[in-house]
Amino acid sequence: MDFEFSQDEILFRKSVSEFAERYIEPRWVEIDDKGVIPRDLIAKMGEYGLLTIPISEEYGGLGESFMKTVLAIEELAYHDPAVAIAVYVLLNNGWPYLINLYASHDVKSEVLPRVSKGRYFFGIASTESHGGSDVAGIKTYARRDDGQWYITGEKIYISGVREVLEQLDGGGWFLVAKSGSLDYGHKNITTFAFIPRRDGKLLGEVEWSIFEEIGRGGLSTGTFKIEDFPVEDKFRVGDEGKGFYLLMEGFNIARVLVAAACIGSARWALEEGVEWIKNRKLFNGRRLSSFQGIYMRFSELYTELESARLFTYRAAWMIDKIYRDRDPNYNPKDLNIPVALAKYKAPEVASRIYEEVMKWLGAYSYMKESKVYRGWLGILSYLVGAEGGQNIMKIIIARDYIGRDYIRG
Ligand SMILES: Cc1cc2nc3c(=O)[nH]c(=O)nc-3n(C[C@H](O)[C@H](O)[C@H](O)COP(=O)(O)OP(=O)(O)OC[C@H]3O[C@@H](n4cnc5c(N)ncnc54)[C@H](O)[C@@H]3O)c2cc1C
Repeated sequence: MDFEFSQDEILFRKSVSEFAERYIEPRWVEIDDKGVIPRDLIAKMGEYGLLTIPISEEYGGLGESFMKTVLAIEELAYHDPAVAIAVYVLLNNGWPYLINLYASHDVKSEVLPRVSKGRYFFGIASTESHGGSDVAGIKTYARRDDGQWYITGEKIYISGVREVLEQLDGGGWFLVAKSGSLDYGHKNITTFAFIPRRDGKLLGEVEWSIFEEIGRGGLSTGTFKIEDFPVEDKFRVGDEGKGFYLLMEGFNIARVLVAAACIGSARWALEEGVEWIKNRKLFNGRRLSSFQGIYMRFSELYTELESARLFTYRAAWMIDKIYRDRDPNYNPKDLNIPVALAKYKAPEVASRIYEEVMKWLGAYSYMKESKVYRGWLGILSYLVGAEGGQNIMKIIIARDYIGRDYIRG
């Protein structure tokens, strides 16, 4: 076991941190308030290679490790604790990674170079109004006719709706649909690289709207509805009826990056809190940090943060073993528990850190100028469900550890 990052990884983290300090830190509050990441910043991140770190160089990516991707997301979230930018970047690294692994050459050539330059957004469209946790129950349907697909359905709480349909040149989502029959279950799920808009033009009928969110202001979340939207068969990713397994792989990849975003943001919050308790003096000039009730709590939270970090790095290391090194000792299912541990732990820890730091800051934390609440609201998106609810992580851990049959009763 080796607990050291390579010199290359250390330098990469440092260079992302310097980039974020220069281009993101001065703008994150304004971005959070205005609710949009300016296109020039997206393009700048593209120029810097941040949008497709683990994607093959052949398709415009950096061809770097997943571990480096995790380090980049952590640094971006540290410099934009409201996490809109980190989430924009993590979605565009995570789901295109799946495209890089499993889509046809034509699709990779269309999607990945454009994502890499910040011209396309590419995320995930799975959730429907009757319950995001229950993928087996989705109702979006892909009908095959004469070698072409026609997709009908409505997706909700989808990140990137404004980016794809209004702001950028286009893009889309790894879209999850039923094919063959609409029966409840996993065996009739087929997945697509669904690109509704290309070079500023819609390729079919789409109705969409964008929600007003309580946090993570720069990245949109919306809903879209399509009816008989034509999709060429080459945009199908994976075999017909086998999409569920690809979706689970995609979630495992993206959830590690989610954990990294939570950790980066929480690290910022804890540092803000420590700075405050070192300087705030109460009860005849004593530093807040000198009270046992405060520094004990710091140690508990720091321990939890470090444990979430280790879970996250271990999962990233395993992703590299599986997909980069093609190590025969590991397969995608081995990721289930390590990823669920990271995705379960990181938002919980981050949220506890924010809550405690806000208590340390007292009334000031309740004032908008303190900024801490912005990070707390950003992190909350992952506590309430984005990229999979916390209970779903617990189900995965119990199912794979205790055994599927034993937890079913
Ligand atoms: C900001 C934000 C962005 C999002 N972006 C996207 C996106 O880009 N693409 C996308 O597809 N979706 C996205 N989502 C949706 C997200 O994936 C869903 O919120 C998530 O899957 C949970 O679905 P739900 O909200 O419908 O809750 P439900 O599925 O209704 O679940 C409600 C609660 O019940 C719990 N629960 C569910 N099943 C069980 C069970 N068997 N046992 C115990 N507890 C259970 C869940 O953990 C959750 O706490 C986003 C959500 C948010 C908040």
